[in-house]
Amino acid sequence: MTITARTSSDVFNRPAARFTAAGIDIRASALGQCRRALWYTATEQPATNPPEPDSLTLLEAGNALEPVVVHAMRRSGWSVTPADRDEPMSVSVEAVPGLTVTGHPDATGCPPAEGGAAAAVEQFLFGDDEPSAQTDELVIEVKTRGPEAFKRWRTLGAERSHPESVAQAACYSLGLYGECRDVVIATLDTGSRTWDHELIPAARAEHAWRNATGRLQALADHHEAFGPDPEALPERDFTASDWQCQRCPHLNRCQPGGAGEAEDDGESAEPVSDETARAALCEYEQVQGRIKSLEADKRGALKTLQHWLQGKGERKARLEGSAKQRTVGMVQSRRYSVDHTRLNALLEPGQRAEIVTEQTSEYLRVS
Ligand code: SF4
Repeated sequence: MTITARTSSDVFNRPAARFTAAGIDIRASALGQCRRALWYTATEQPATNPPEPDSLTLLEAGNALEPVVVHAMRRSGWSVTPADRDEPMSVSVEAVPGLTVTGHPDATGCPPAEGGAAAAVEQFLFGDDEPSAQTDELVIEVKTRGPEAFKRWRTLGAERSHPESVAQAACYSLGLYGECRDVVIATLDTGSRTWDHELIPAARAEHAWRNATGRLQALADHHEAFGPDPEALPERDFTASDWQCQRCPHLNRCQPGGAGEAEDDGESAEPVSDETARAALCEYEQVQGRIKSLEADKRGALKTLQHWLQGKGERKARLEGSAKQRTVGMVQSRRYSVDHTRLNALLEPGQRAEIVTEQTSEYLRVS
């Protein structure tokens, strides 16, 4: 594996893929991207669906918040060295022959517990109060996520929710240290402004890297077979209804009419006019208003009943209602919570997938 290190100020603006004298170079943060999209970028096809200004603002806001995560980690006792934002250190790793992955690590550092990452996890899990010697520093990949994505990451673990970020951190570890060490994914919830971290053991980080580079082998083979030919396209990795295509800057070139097709999926046979939709919205608002007021009345009545029960010194009593006698009683409910950080540290991604399953449902929200 070839490892080089260099410094560059324009590294943040690099394209996701480009041809080099040695083959293809992929930006580390684009490791999970569609291979055809990477090919369009490398062959310098102009974007047919450039990102909306709002998406760019979201991206810039995420980048701007990264130093906030570093400050929060330091306050929690982490030793963190963030990248120099003007002159970030860039690392380049040969993933497969003819294909390199290049990027800039967000930060490096060590967990707060003495004894480093492994001991920190051990201490955290088993309360071991005999710390071992200080470990080497680790790559820290800093992410900002919206509330839903943050919850998903915490619940499923980074290898399931965002495997490309684990592969990215593993790449930096290889580039910086010449070996795949444990890596840390530190994530800020942009909604609640809370942060958390996940430590991925070296063997699992390396596995994520192997998966990512296995995918990229096909791109290197394609380049080997066709050279930098913009007409010879690799297979599509996604279909028009996938979010990857919906956000792809090359959607209209790759799948002309794809955006429209995806939008049509949920349409009913009978088109609904704007006027009818507006009437439905007004009706919805009126019903919502009535529900809110009824809910407030219900809460008030329940409070009165609770005071009545407390006054009697009982937990349950019978009372004549308007049509029948009813039981009024206190009910105890119990909630169980799972510490996903501990669960993720203890189990392999495959075992977690058997235990923490995911269901998706769709509903219409009016806000
Ligand atoms: S539109 Fe979809 S399949 Fe086509 S290049 Fe983009 S992500 Fe890949």
